[in-house]
Amino acid sequence: PHYLMWFRRDLRVHDNTALAAICERANTDNAKLSAVFFLTPEQWQTHDMSLTQLDHIARTLPILAQKLQALNITLTVQICPSFTDCIAALSALCESNNISCVMANHEYEGNEIARDEQLTKQLAKTDIEFIRWHDQCILPPQTITTNDNSMYQVFTPFYKKWRHTLEVGDIQIHTAPAITNNEQINLISSEFSANTIQAIEALCKETVHDYQQYLQTHECYQYIDTDKQISQARTAYPAGEAEACHRLTQFISDDINHYDVSRDVPSLHATSHLSAYLTIGALSPRLCYLQATKALGELHRNDGDNFDSGDNNDINRWISELAWRDFYRHVLDYKPELIRHQAYKHETDKKINWSYDEDAFAAWREGKTGVPLVDAAMRCLNATGFMHNRLRMVTAMFLTKDLLIDWRWGERYFMQQLIDGDFASNNGGWQWSASTGTDSAPYFRIMNPFSQAKTHDSDGIFLKTWLPELEPIPASILHSEDKMRKALSKNGAFADIDYPIPMVEHKLARQLAIAEFKKE
Ligand code: FAD
Repeated sequence: PHYLMWFRRDLRVHDNTALAAICERANTDNAKLSAVFFLTPEQWQTHDMSLTQLDHIARTLPILAQKLQALNITLTVQICPSFTDCIAALSALCESNNISCVMANHEYEGNEIARDEQLTKQLAKTDIEFIRWHDQCILPPQTITTNDNSMYQVFTPFYKKWRHTLEVGDIQIHTAPAITNNEQINLISSEFSANTIQAIEALCKETVHDYQQYLQTHECYQYIDTDKQISQARTAYPAGEAEACHRLTQFISDDINHYDVSRDVPSLHATSHLSAYLTIGALSPRLCYLQATKALGELHRNDGDNFDSGDNNDINRWISELAWRDFYRHVLDYKPELIRHQAYKHETDKKINWSYDEDAFAAWREGKTGVPLVDAAMRCLNATGFMHNRLRMVTAMFLTKDLLIDWRWGERYFMQQLIDGDFASNNGGWQWSASTGTDSAPYFRIMNPFSQAKTHDSDGIFLKTWLPELEPIPASILHSEDKMRKALSKNGAFADIDYPIPMVEHKLARQLAIAEFKKE
C-alpha cells in the first residue's frame, strides 16, 4: 500500500499528531508513505493572508522537506490556487499514485471544513480513507464544557476547567518514526509541483513574488514598503521548527520569570514571540504547555512542600495565554457563524450603528490619528507584520470605540498585515475589544490611549521608536491629550513638528460610544 500525509497548518515533524499516526500505520502495514503540501494563493487572497505569513510558510517548507527526508519521506509541494482545486488535485494524486489512505490534522475554519467534508465524500467513492486528527489545540474543541455539556461563554471558568483537565490528565507528545519501507518516492503529480529541496525553494519564492505583486495593487498596501516588511519579518522570525523550539526553550529559561510584570511593556522583548510559529504549526502548543509546566515543577522541587502550582504568577500567566488560544478555537468550533462575519453577541449586529468612514479608517491604518500610542503601534505593524498584545487591544478599542468603526474592518486589516494572523485568535481579540464578543468586562470599560501610554510606555521609548518626529516632545506631554493639543497648536511649543493633532476627543468619543451601546 501507499499512504499520504497532507500537511496544512502543521508544518513540523515534532509532535505532529497526524504524521505520527500515519508513520506508525505505514510501518505496521509495510506501506510506503509520501507527503504533500498545497500552495493555495487564490484561497489565501480571499482569506486576507498577509505577505509576511505567506513568506514565513514559504521559508518553512524547504526546511520541513529536509526534516521529512530524515524519516525517509519525500514532500511534494504543489500549486493549487483554491481549496476547490485541492479537492481535484488530491483525488488525482491518490489515483495516479495508488494511494489508499490520507491523513491530515483538523482545521476549524469554515472553508477548510467545507473542503475536508467534500473531499471525504469524493475519496469515499473510491474507497480511500481520509482520516483527520485534532492537533491545533492543547485540548481539542468540545472537550472542555460546562456541566450541561455546552461551551463556556467567558474565559475564566473555561480556564479553570482546562487547567484542571490537564493537571489530572496526561498529555502525550507524539514522535513520528522513520518509514522502513521507503525507497524515497516522488509522487506523480502535476507540472506545478516540486519535490526536491531546491525546486521547493524556487516554487515557494515564485509564489511569494507573485503574491507581493498582487498585494501591491491594493489600496491598503500603497503606503507599505513590502520589501522592507518581508525583510524585517525574516530577521525577527527565522523559519523552521528547530528555531521555534529553541526560542521556546530560551524563553522558558530566560524570560518567563518576568512575564507577568513585563508582558505589558511594548518596548521590551518580554513576550515569547512564538505566535508566528504556532499559527503555521511550526511549533506544537502541547510542547509549549509541557515546557512551562516542567518549569513550574522545577520550582516545586526547589520549594518543597510549601509550593502550590498556583503560586507562580509569571508561568501561570503564560500558560493562561496558551489557554486563550485554545479558548478561541473552541469558541469558533461552537459558533461556526463567526466565520461569516457575525458578532458573537448577535444583538450588537442589530443595535450598533457602526461607522464606515473611509478617511478615519485610513488615518487609523496608516498611523496618522494624532494619538501617539495608536500611531506608533500601527506603524510598527505596517513595518514589521507584528504588534504587541497590549497595543492590539489599544488600537482595536480606538477603532471600535473612539471612531466607532465596524470591528470587521479592523479584523480584516490585521489579517492582511500580521505574520501571526489567525482567524480564531484575531476574531476573538477584535470582538473582545469591540464588546461584541466573549469579554466579561462591560462595554463602558474603554481604554484611554493616553493613559495606556503613560502606564506601559512611561518614558515614551516605544512611541519615539516608531514616531521619531516626536523625539523633541517630553513624555509628560505625549501622555496627555490636552497637552498634546496645546503643544501642536498654532502657537504651541511644538507647532513646527509635522504630526497631526488628535483626530477625536477621547472623552467625548467615549461618551458617544457608551450611548451607542446603552441604547435600547
Ligand atoms: P505571548 O504573550 O508569549 O503568549 C504565548 C502564546 O499564547 C502566543 O504566542 C499566542 O499563541 C497565545 N496567546 C497570547 N495571547 C493570546 C490571546 N489574547 N488570544 C489568543 N492567543 C493568545 N494572536 C494570534 O496568534 N493571531 C492573531 O491574529 C491575533 N490577533 C489579535 C487581535 C487582537 C485585536 C488582539 C487583542 C489579540 C490578538 N492576538 C492574536 C492575541 C495576541 O495579541 C498574540 O497572540 C500575541 O501578541 C503574540 O505574541 P507572543 O507570541 O509574544 O505572545
